[in-house]
Amino acid sequence: MGKILFKKIDDNKSICLLCSHFCVLQDNEKGKCGVRQNISGQIVSLVKNKIAAKALDPIEKKPLFHVLPGSFSYSIGSPGCNFTCKFCQNASLAQSPAILNEIDAYEVIPQNLVKEAVASKAKSISYTYSEPTVFFELMKDTALVAKEKGLLNIMVSNGFISSQGFDEIKEFIDAANIDLKSFNNDFYEKICGGKLKPVLETLKRMKKAGIFIEVTTLLISGINDSKEEIEKIARFINNELGKDTPWHISAFHPCFKMTDIKRTSADTIHKAIETGQKHGLFYIYSGNIFGDDFESTLCPKCQNKVVERKGFYVIENRIKNGKCFECGYNINGIFE
Ligand code: SF4
Repeated sequence: MGKILFKKIDDNKSICLLCSHFCVLQDNEKGKCGVRQNISGQIVSLVKNKIAAKALDPIEKKPLFHVLPGSFSYSIGSPGCNFTCKFCQNASLAQSPAILNEIDAYEVIPQNLVKEAVASKAKSISYTYSEPTVFFELMKDTALVAKEKGLLNIMVSNGFISSQGFDEIKEFIDAANIDLKSFNNDFYEKICGGKLKPVLETLKRMKKAGIFIEVTTLLISGINDSKEEIEKIARFINNELGKDTPWHISAFHPCFKMTDIKRTSADTIHKAIETGQKHGLFYIYSGNIFGDDFESTLCPKCQNKVVERKGFYVIENRIKNGKCFECGYNINGIFE
């Protein structure tokens, strides 16, 4: 039995408890995400059985490099997001409910989504493209069926879920890629419309709950790429999540409201990777630089290439029963 993720404050107001914005909504008012509304005291989802995007993606595209490498993940997303990132790469999907007051989506049946996923030979379902926290009901209904069919459930998220929301999702999410966009609360407030602390809390809660985590940071030159900031993120990952947590450092490219800043160079990404490695992290990957040297997985012990990749594609997976083929070292991840 799921918990009710809102609370009535008085006859006219209710508070949404799903994400860390905790929107207090008057009757008929919508939350910051644009897809949850107070209807006569109940906060309801406007995208309960609706999606706007669906595809069969390589799992590496999420990106998840340590979860069933080379498999496909049936990926779905609904409109709406609880952040307003100025560099949003999926703005037409994520931002249209809040900005245009428009929900452009079609009806689906969770059981049918799972049937399609199984028929497509996917090994997992990913809740992605926009922010899955705000399409919580569809994610939960789909995930519970997917679990019964032996599929993994994957959340690709900004991590701004509340502790109340997290208590629900931990029951059905197996793995997640969480954005740690910066280690600076000002960045979160001014550029993303969020806050840093709840994201750090989510990451720690996921680790504690046994959800497999990979972290992504999109590096924007001159904004969040200082050595100090990279060091703070690396230290947090090392101390709180473990040095064997995969970290994807991706290159920004101009989009949405940030078209005046140049694409992040490979050199900047490589320097950040070097900083992370100096802090003892085992698995750091570059993102958005096709064919880069940092796309493959090396064994932390013997340095042999255990998974060779080109872009999102696995050329060869040499991991045997979760271990390095050469020295037998345990590679962190879900490989069976
Ligand atoms: S999910 Fe977050 S943004 Fe949306 S209404 Fe609830 S608290 Fe507000």
